[in-house]
Amino acid sequence: MTMAGTILRVDLTRGSIEKEPTSKYVDDYIGGAAIGTKIFCDEVPPVTRALDPENMLMFNTGPLTGTLLGNKATIGAKTAERANHPYTFVGMGGQIASEIKFAGYDHIVIRGRSARPVYIYINNDTVEIRDASHLWGLDTHETQYKLRQELEDQDVQIACIGPAGENLVVYALILHDLDNTASRKVGSVMGSKNLKAVAVRGTKGLKIADPKLFLELFDEFYQDITTGRGSTFARQQHQEGISRQIAEGYQFAYGTELPKEIPPSPMMDFLKKFMVRPSGCAFCSFQCHQMFSVPGVGNGATTCVNYLGLLFQRMYDAHDFDLWWERTILANQYGIDSLSVEMIGSWLMELYRRGLITEADTDGIPMVRRSREAIIAVIEKIAKKEGFGKLFTDGIAPAAKKIGKDSLVYADQYDNATPYAWADYAPDLGAAAQWRTGEVERVPGFGDAYGNIPVFAEILGISFEEARDLIDSYCSDASERITGDRDVWKTPRYSKNTSRITIEKEDEILLSDVTGVCEARSSYLEHYGLRFGIDHFARWLRAATGINYTPERLREMGRKLRLLVDSYNVLCKRAIGEEPAVGMPFESLTVLPTAGRPKDPRELKKVQEDYCATRGYDPATGVPTRVALEELGLEDIADRLESTAAGSAAPHAGKAVRKTKRHR
Ligand code: SF4
Repeated sequence: MTMAGTILRVDLTRGSIEKEPTSKYVDDYIGGAAIGTKIFCDEVPPVTRALDPENMLMFNTGPLTGTLLGNKATIGAKTAERANHPYTFVGMGGQIASEIKFAGYDHIVIRGRSARPVYIYINNDTVEIRDASHLWGLDTHETQYKLRQELEDQDVQIACIGPAGENLVVYALILHDLDNTASRKVGSVMGSKNLKAVAVRGTKGLKIADPKLFLELFDEFYQDITTGRGSTFARQQHQEGISRQIAEGYQFAYGTELPKEIPPSPMMDFLKKFMVRPSGCAFCSFQCHQMFSVPGVGNGATTCVNYLGLLFQRMYDAHDFDLWWERTILANQYGIDSLSVEMIGSWLMELYRRGLITEADTDGIPMVRRSREAIIAVIEKIAKKEGFGKLFTDGIAPAAKKIGKDSLVYADQYDNATPYAWADYAPDLGAAAQWRTGEVERVPGFGDAYGNIPVFAEILGISFEEARDLIDSYCSDASERITGDRDVWKTPRYSKNTSRITIEKEDEILLSDVTGVCEARSSYLEHYGLRFGIDHFARWLRAATGINYTPERLREMGRKLRLLVDSYNVLCKRAIGEEPAVGMPFESLTVLPTAGRPKDPRELKKVQEDYCATRGYDPATGVPTRVALEELGLEDIADRLESTAAGSAAPHAGKAVRKTKRHR
């Protein structure tokens, strides 16, 4: 089967390296983020803080990682990002996840703190903790270059931190290769362990349980994305990237009127001039990243060009894409989440415009929109923890507290996280329901489908109207598959089916984290014409592992993972004497130029209640119920929740009852 069979445990305090079989977790947790989360919840006391040595940093691969259909790892840790959701995991693409599997490991579990900077070197069965003093202070690209030279191996795969991670900045990320990132603040956890890099070389390969069937299934997938229904999206990705979707599409994505022609786009001009070619993760036919070469600025690659470019334009009111590229390379090199930093920059500019801060507060730099000096300074100062950048080491909410003057009112933040601006565009009411429980950054829905209209029209040689009808049909097919109602996706109003779409999409994303398949290859993007979802995951898994996984079993796994994560985060909150807070996040996202269309809070509340009822949360508190946890075999964590609920010595029959403090 495609599990490597071994969990690698490295303790940096003791300098120990141990190995244990993965098998004891597989029956109940399948793999990937689910096994990682189970280990984390069992072994890391909820009172542990993000930068404590007891915190765990995990690289989790799934049963399909390293096959033709999967290449993803999730990086799990308790981070300092969100008060309510301190434990999190985040995907990382590229080649490193597959390399970990090829070296013989399903998970790398790192604990402790080294007394000096180190890196972990894995070469199949050989695992060493090596000195990294000479690498400390280098940026992420320099670190990888030096390590490859030192190891005399150009094929070694490296994940590392830059100065932001070393400085324990909450927005620090882990970077692999040119542009594969694990964001959501895991870089500061790696820095707190004095761990500069993990370098992996694996040559063992994988054993597929039924290779003939697996190749047939892969062929079915491949035919679909090359000549079938998924091929338009695949061509869009591969030819010019989803950048085009944004450059041309988002400008009218949410209007009802289609333009006669594509409006002028400075981003598109930049793409035509400087894009070298698509690139992307190992074994992926989409290759959704893009490489750019901009004279006088630099060469490199980036993923999510669309979001990065869109946010840059909206947050800074800036359309200078040479500057956008400069900031993109710089953020990758410093190892800092450019999107979060952009939210901070925009916030500072809003405070400056309103006279709440002056240049005296920002080291003499006027915080003016479109200013190169300001845009670059925000990245450098925060990553290097210099000058005004020191304010942001722990996030935007603590910074607002220090600045005072009601400055938090103007911040696009929720629970100290900086949710990206596009989240607010989605007209799907259901997408907002997830915010109740956890996933801030991966809001699923159909809201972005119309962004595809121009490029679909061009690729297929059809009119905008015909492209819109085609995309409508994809959305309606998905809506019918999930809810039995073809039209539910169209309305921004409440429907009893709204939360069902949210839950299905959420499960697809969670299961991509469990299996090791990139969610961009799943029916998470069914409204773009893709059709490979949970049913296919089950078939792929059966062929790869020889274990009889069913779609029902996988959906149960998605729910189990969601509830386990959320239960553990409730325990973390209670460990510091607080209760989880629930709120209406979109209320806070209507101030800056990022403002989208605010949702009706009454309708959102109804969707959230449906979501909680189906998932198994107390709708008043957001705490998973005992009944739901027991259904999923999670009695242990139900007991822990019960024993920590204040004033509840007696077991709760159906719910974890607790008076909850409101967030807002
Ligand atoms: S679609 Fe997913 S796996 Fe493929 S290149 Fe893009 S991020 Fe990587």
